[in-house]
Amino acid sequence: DLMTEKPRLEVLLAAPRGFCAGVDRAIQIVEMAIEKFGAPVYVRHEIVHNRTVVESLEAKGAIFVEELNEIPNTDAPVIFSAHGVPKSVPVEAAKRNFFYLDATCPLVSKVHFEAERHYKAGLEIILIGHSGHPEVIGTLGQLPEGAVTLIEQVKDVEDFEARDPAKLAYITQTTLSIDDTIEMISALKARFPLIQGPAKEDICYATTNRQRAVKAIASDCDAILVVGAPNSSNSKRLVEVAVRAGCPKAMLVQKASEIPWESLEGIGVLGLTAGASAPEVLVDEIIEKFKARYDVTVEIVRTATEDVIFKIPRALQQAAAQ
Ligand code: SF4
Repeated sequence: DLMTEKPRLEVLLAAPRGFCAGVDRAIQIVEMAIEKFGAPVYVRHEIVHNRTVVESLEAKGAIFVEELNEIPNTDAPVIFSAHGVPKSVPVEAAKRNFFYLDATCPLVSKVHFEAERHYKAGLEIILIGHSGHPEVIGTLGQLPEGAVTLIEQVKDVEDFEARDPAKLAYITQTTLSIDDTIEMISALKARFPLIQGPAKEDICYATTNRQRAVKAIASDCDAILVVGAPNSSNSKRLVEVAVRAGCPKAMLVQKASEIPWESLEGIGVLGLTAGASAPEVLVDEIIEKFKARYDVTVEIVRTATEDVIFKIPRALQQAAAQ
């Protein structure tokens, strides 16, 4: 019966995609804290930028706040999100006698240490990143005000006035577009040949791998859906990378109910990937929705394998062992 025949759709599933080791660890910290100490546990800021993750942890007994002053005096654990926090936050938490657990991704902490090292060496520091993102707020907040200057685009490099061009260093946010960042770093090096920086950038392995994977499928796809939240930096970068690598249409979707069917009309090949904070179940649900309308074949296109695992904080390990 021709009436019930579904149109064909080839889905190219980018790999790696979705959860990174830092996100995995952060979620595990909240879950273990609830298990060991009971509900509630307080979490400062969305533990990772994903509503599905946040809501499932809320259902288990996590209470999310933006700032510590929203938390009553309590013995309950207080957890800092994967994005990292300014130094003032653990100071405040200690002042209030909170039992706090830091879910900052170790790869973000690494950038914090770099900043500290440059500062101690007497260098003026430039941070390449996106204004207002919690990771950027956290990294800026590692050092006294004025020690680190944020730049967001090549034009900011031109406008930057160094106190001493021979005493400069740069660090970067972990979830930037690789290509944009390379451009900005070369602009920095051209203007300030003596500037110091990390061997590569501080962009993390997960960001790098997800961008390479989406690049590999981009020109073969009529459209690409990136599963991720509008406040997820690495997810937004995946959309940009997809378009720049030749995909005519790339869009962010948070969940299956948000699939923009109208703008996908007539496509034959759909690319699918997910930001580092998006659970795989959301990808599965989206594929199911497509299967209801199309005769779907799924091909996984893998450009890297990942085996990174981060340890959970000792305080929680000990608690878990008891
Ligand atoms: Fe860590 Fe990178 Fe994941 Fe951010 S995206 S939590 S820096 S591994």
